[in-house]
Parts: sequence; structure tokens; C-alpha cells
Amino acid sequence: MSAPKKGDLTDTEKELLQVIAAGNVQEASRLLGSKDVRVNCLDEYGMTPLMHAAYKGKADMCKLLLQHGANVNCNEHEHGYTALMFAGLSGKTDITWMMLDAGAETDAVNSVGRTAAQMAAFVGQHDCVTVINNFFSRVRLDYYTQPQGLEKEPKLPPKLAGPLHKIIMSTNLDPVKIVMLVKENPLLMVVEALEKCRKVLELICEKCIKQQDMNEVLAMKMHYLSCVLQKCGSFLKERQDKLDGLVKSLLKGRDSDGFLVFQEKFIRECIRKFPYCDATLLQQLVRSIAPVEIGSDPTALSVLTQAITGQVGFMDADFCATCGEKGAEKRCSICKMVIYCDQACQKLHWFSHKKVCKMLQEQREKHESESASRLQKQAKNNQTQDVNSETNQSFQPSNHHHHLH
Ligand SMILES: [Zn+2]
Ligand SMILES: [Zn+2]
Repeated sequence: MSAPKKGDLTDTEKELLQVIAAGNVQEASRLLGSKDVRVNCLDEYGMTPLMHAAYKGKADMCKLLLQHGANVNCNEHEHGYTALMFAGLSGKTDITWMMLDAGAETDAVNSVGRTAAQMAAFVGQHDCVTVINNFFSRVRLDYYTQPQGLEKEPKLPPKLAGPLHKIIMSTNLDPVKIVMLVKENPLLMVVEALEKCRKVLELICEKCIKQQDMNEVLAMKMHYLSCVLQKCGSFLKERQDKLDGLVKSLLKGRDSDGFLVFQEKFIRECIRKFPYCDATLLQQLVRSIAPVEIGSDPTALSVLTQAITGQVGFMDADFCATCGEKGAEKRCSICKMVIYCDQACQKLHWFSHKKVCKMLQEQREKHESESASRLQKQAKNNQTQDVNSETNQSFQPSNHHHHLH
């Protein structure tokens, strides 16, 4: 069949687009097997079946089309929209992820110069922005697992690519979480391995800055992760405690208010050490952090997280008090004021939390009894108010009358 032209659809292709809109995967699969269906056919606006499926938020359909060879970077749309842009607009993180995993270019721009991440941000789909900004394909990392040029051995031993990629893909930048990711893999708990990973991260950071479409967000993330791995390496070299001491330092709150001073200073130092002084993102971060006294809000972690992942409203969601992971549900059984992912996270935090737990418990109980008595008072007030309003009503007309004269 001929190469797809805009609006040049066979009857079966028209049928396919309808089936996609209806979300009938089985029927779509049957039609894709037909010989007069081109998986990259274009409707009158230059939209491919994959763009339609992404825009409609149909993940199974996107998967099917990609399996049939849909071109994720097709750019024939009248306004230059790509499948990734439609995925971002749909607000579906799984589809956004799927497009990236299939090789979607994040730097492609539409007819008014906007990238997929910018378009998703414009319509408030911040979870999709996070997915796009933090995506780094395994293929890009695997490049470092092969010897380049005159190298006798690769910069990254292939067995480290998996565990390092997991760290790179984390959208939780809490240093405790990153140290935990290092701790969970014995391959990474070796000083030399950490040093190799750190160097590769700095190389990727450099590439992100020097490539034509500069990606400062990813560069900053790579640099920050490399700083955390470096810290792990130096603790591992000096102490025989499997990084427990580092986790403790990061979780240790100061006596007066529990503020994480060591963590705050560490993250500020990481940002300051970013090697590209001219980067706009660096200057932005420094401007937000420098005037803030240590111990006040916002913390360096929250500023960094917002800049890199786009996540805001740190306080509203259920973040684990230990590792910062979202969706924590286990409450401290005594104070009921802090939450954790699981028992392990709670146990790690206890040495620091025990100093404030009792106080938090008392605060909560005081607050609860106060609001209970306030409710009682309110109930009483309501009764008296009812009486008053009745008396007012009976008085008002005559009062009014009186004023008029
Ligand atoms: Zn946790
Ligand atoms: Zn507690």
C-alpha cells in the first residue's frame, strides 16, 4: 500500500478510528490484521490511530498499536502534536510512560514551540509532566555498559545498569529513599561500584547540559543523585555499619523542633556543587533557597523536588516520615501524628521520633478535647441563638418603627 497521506483513509481505516474511539481492543486487533489498514494512516488533521488512542486515554489500545508498529514519533499533525503530547494532555501517566518507553522524543515541539511537558503543564496534568521530565531510558544508560573508543572495559559494569536505572527513575528525591535503594542491592554496596555509578551520572549530567536541546532538569537530577551516591561511598569506606549511620544522620532532627539540619545542609551543598554555574535552573534554586534560614520553610528538598518533578503541596499528601514515599498509611500507634510506608520505615525513624512522639500525642489530645468542648459549646450556643433570634424577630419591628420616628 502507498505511504499515508493526510485524510487519505480506506474504509477499514475509518472503521479502525471509530473502534479506537469506542475502546474495542478486540475489534481493533482484528482490523489491524486486515491488509488495507496501515497502522500509521493519517486522518484529515494528520492524526494517527496511536494519537487518537493516546488522546482518548486508552492504554490497552496504545499498547496494541505499538505492538503493530505504530510510529510513536510521527509528526504529521496539523499543529505539530505528537502522540506523547496527546498522552500528556490526556493526563494518563501510564500512557505517557508507554510513549516514552517506545522511544518518544521529549524535545519535539508543536507549531507554537511547546514541548509535550510544557503542554501537559499548561493544562494542569502535573503527574504527566513529572513522568516526562524524569524519564531516562534504559537504552541511554546501557550505552555506558559497552566499551567506547579505546576503552578496554566499559564505564559501567553491565550488572550495575539495572540497579542504577532504578535509582535514576525514582521520582522520590528524599536522600533517605535513595540510600535505601542503594542498601537494598548488594551490588551497589561496594565502594568501587558506587564510584563507577557516580561517574556515569556526572557524564550524563554533562551530556544533558551540552546536548543541543539542553535538559537542565535531568542534569540537576543526575548531579544530585551522584552526590548522594558519593556520600554513600564515603560512609561505606569509613564505617562498617552498612550505611545505617548515614540514614540516622539524615533522619536526625535537632532538639528544639526536630528540623533535619544535616539533611538540609547536605542537600544545599549538593545544589551548590552543580558544575554548570550558568544554568538557569541552578540560579533559580539558589534564589529560592539562599534567603531561607536553616530550619524555616521551604526546605531545600521541597524546592529541589518541585523543580525536578513538578510536585507541589508537599504537606497535603501522605508522605512517609522516613523515606518521603507517597501513599504511606501506617500511623505511629502512640501519637497518631506521623505516617510511614511500613514497619521498617517506622523502626528506622523511632530513634529520632521518640523524642517528640509524647509531645505530639499530648498536642493531639489537647486539640481533640478542645475541639470536643468547642463542639459542646457550639451546640449550646445554637440553642440560645435560636431563642435570641426569636426574641429579635419580635423586637425588631417595633425597634424599626421607633427609629423611623
Ligand atoms: Zn517509608
Ligand atoms: Zn509517635
